[in-house]
This record gives sequence, structure tokens and C-alpha cells, in this order.
Amino acid sequence: MASHPFSLHGQVALVTGANTGLGQGLALALARAGADIAAVGRSAPDATIEAVTALGRRCIWIEAALDTPAPAQSIVDRALAQLGRIDILINNAGTIRRNDALDFTEDDWDQVMGVNLKTLFFLAQAVARHWSANARGGKIVNIASMLSFQGGVRVASYTASKSGVLGLTRLLANEWAGKGINVNAIAPGYFATNNTEALRTDEKRNQAILDRIPAGRWGQPDDLGGAVVFLCSAAADYVHGAVLPVDGGWLAR
Ligand code: NAP
Repeated sequence: MASHPFSLHGQVALVTGANTGLGQGLALALARAGADIAAVGRSAPDATIEAVTALGRRCIWIEAALDTPAPAQSIVDRALAQLGRIDILINNAGTIRRNDALDFTEDDWDQVMGVNLKTLFFLAQAVARHWSANARGGKIVNIASMLSFQGGVRVASYTASKSGVLGLTRLLANEWAGKGINVNAIAPGYFATNNTEALRTDEKRNQAILDRIPAGRWGQPDDLGGAVVFLCSAAADYVHGAVLPVDGGWLAR
């Protein structure tokens, strides 16, 4: 174990969707704990690069559309070529489509399942193959949701994908724990990001959500920092297949 059990000094973290929202908060928390960051995604993560660099850590952009798993191997190759190693994968990129189940389209289904579940799995596979081939372990954290536990409304493919993330996290933990690969998930509650803009601008939904959160406020990306650093650190070496809700108490209600 490192001299400080939560230290990530000398480590490299791949974070998908790190240009904004939760991914940016996760990347900054990992950088504060000492990790260099490969920000993987389709939009330039300029603000993230600036903030990580200001913390004295390296941050590169690996440009990749994550609609399909096609770029998974090249993401691993580029991270290794530019940063020399991979210790952590944060599967954060995700999308959502809202419509009544009666009107839900195949495109709304495929798009969300592609990014949130299929690419998440094959990126985990590509990173784990690299670790396995080099006889070493690492940490994978998948970003789940309250809809990994609950049904939700008007978000059929999102609920299916995030429920799938919970199952896959457990399956991968079972298969890879013996290889020293820790696969866990964080289930954020309701956070103020682009993903939830439609909910927050609907006054009724906004109030109904706030009324149910014991902490009485929307989460901010920084609120996930402690959870992700813990799960990526040596302090969590014996934690496998866990899903850690960071939800202001939502699930306890
Ligand atoms: P966000 O601000 O909309 O960020 C989503 C991220 O995913 C962005 O970086 C986005 O890139 C990226 N992304 C989406 N589709 C992509 C694609 N096809 N290819 C490459 N990148 C893609 O939302 P967020 O709230 O931070 O969401 C981050 C994760 O947390 C998601 O998995 C979401 O489901 C999950 N989550 C969020 C909440 C919440 O309350 N906000 C709660 C539970 C779980 P672009 O900027 O290029 O679109």
C-alpha cells in the first residue's frame, strides 16, 4: 500500500466524458489525489486540461466518439503511448433520451445503450486485457445511477442501461477480482449537470426532486470526489463489485 492509502501519485486515470459535468469533477478529484488524466471523449476538454494542469498534473485529450466500442483499443494504445501507463478507468460518459415508453424509438434505445452500456463494457475489456497481458491489476469505476435501483419514467433505455451497469459491475468484479482488478460503481443521485437540465428547468419536477433529497440540494460534481478517490486507491484493494450511492440520502428515503 502507498504511504498514504488514498494517494494516487504516479498513476494514470482514463476518464470518459471528462470535458464537463460529473466526468470533469471526477477527473479533478483524481488529479488532486495525484493522478495524471487521459480525458477521453468527443468534445475538447479545454477547461479540464487547464484545471488539471494548474494542479501540477498532466492531462491529455484522447479524442473519441463513444457511440460504439470501435475506438476502445486505440484509446488504450494512445493513453499508453502518451502517458506510459494506465492504472484507473472511469467509465463516466453517458447520455439520456426522454420519451413515453409508447413512443420510444429504436434510435433512442440504441444510442443510449451504445454509449452507456456497450462501449462501457468493451472499454473495460480493452483496459483489462492490457492489465492481464502485463500480469498486473488496476481499478475500474463505472458510473451507475439511481435508475440502477429504481424504474424512473420516460427514460426506458437509460433505466435499462444503468440497471445493466449495475449487473455488469458485479459480473466483471467476479471475473477479474482474482486478477487484482477492482471493478466497482458509483451511483450518483441528482446532480446539477447538462444531463439533468430538463428536470431542473421544470419547476414542478425540480421541487419534487428537492423535496425527496434528505440533504435538501442537488449534488455538485465535487461531491463525488471522495468516493472516486477511495475506490481508485489502495484503500479499496479488497472492495469488489460494490455500488456506492452518493445521493444526498435519496435511496434512504
Ligand atoms: P453531461 O454533463 O451530459 O456529460 C455527459 C458526458 O458524456 C459528456 O462528456 C459527453 O460528451 C459524454 N458523452 C455522451 N455521449 C457521448 C458519445 N457518444 N461519445 C463521447 N462522449 C459522449 O452529464 P453528466 O451528468 O455529467 O453525466 C455523466 C455520467 O453520470 C453519465 O453516465 C450519467 O448517466 C451519469 N449520471 C448523472 C447523474 C446526474 O444527476 N447528472 C445522475 C446519475 C448518473 P459531450 O459533452 O461531447 O456531449
